[in-house]
Amino acid sequence: MRPGLAVVLVGDDPASAVYVRAKAKASEEAGMYSITVRLPAATTEAELLQHVDQLNADPSIHGILVQMPLPKHISAEVVIRRVRPEKDVDGFHPVNAGKLLNGDTDGFAPCTPAGVQELLVRCGVKTKGAECVIVGRSSIVGKPMAALMMQDRPGANATVTVCHSRTTDLAGHTKRADILIVAAGRPKFVTGPMVKPGAVVIDVGINRVDDARAKRGYILVGDVDFASAREVARLITPVPGGVGPMTIAMLLKNTVRAAQLSAGLA
Ligand code: NDP
Repeated sequence: MRPGLAVVLVGDDPASAVYVRAKAKASEEAGMYSITVRLPAATTEAELLQHVDQLNADPSIHGILVQMPLPKHISAEVVIRRVRPEKDVDGFHPVNAGKLLNGDTDGFAPCTPAGVQELLVRCGVKTKGAECVIVGRSSIVGKPMAALMMQDRPGANATVTVCHSRTTDLAGHTKRADILIVAAGRPKFVTGPMVKPGAVVIDVGINRVDDARAKRGYILVGDVDFASAREVARLITPVPGGVGPMTIAMLLKNTVRAAQLSAGLA
């Protein structure tokens, strides 16, 4: 059987278009069946739900990803809940979010946090008993990241602290971290002095910053100030090239598993 992934893009947000192209290209390169459903920005919520229903019913499609953000007139929550949990390879459906929190392994973990964990494991970073500080508490990154790192299993078992915009003394927390995961959506927000010497720093952020010297008029930077943080950290991920490709790899992994599950193979 051939695992099938459908990516749905509504509107013409340039960053979303780049992500969708990258996901389609990676799935084709891996030999998967891949379709991209491109819909105009004026698509109504009802029309989008119809497309989701069609993909839910399509046996050649095992994974469905609706690219976020959606236009303001469409409720992301309603759309996320409409994707069948068995095809929710983004891991955003409440059923999968609940399974992740419970430690059930038969659901799908969101791709970015799962990719961060895989990166830590593949780089031989000791997570058991480590102080893991996460900056950001979104449902896409921060919260599932915390749920993954606190599980009682290999590649996890960390002591987790989650920081957000109301955290007092942020640097006091980040400086304690053996593993510092930053997903704040703020360019170069975490600097070298906020990092514990010898820490492992994972920069989830992807920010477009205007730069007249760049061909496209902007450059991509992370949420960590790479130049100052690398002086202090033992290991640090670059932006671009660090967490981004891992996110796509985990999407493919989830899709393969969704296909296996549909055939009773996993
Ligand atoms: P959100 O904007 O949804 O969340 C940002 C989080 O950071 C919030 O919890 C916010 O706190 C917290 N925050 C903001 N400012 C501060 C501050 N001054 N001090 C402490 N905490 C703060 O972003 P996402 O989680 O969706 O994304 C985070 C980053 O990761 C973005 O740069 C995004 O582009 C990138 N990203 C990268 C992916 C990849 O594949 N590499 C995938 C997904 C995201 P509060 O809740 O209080 O507002």
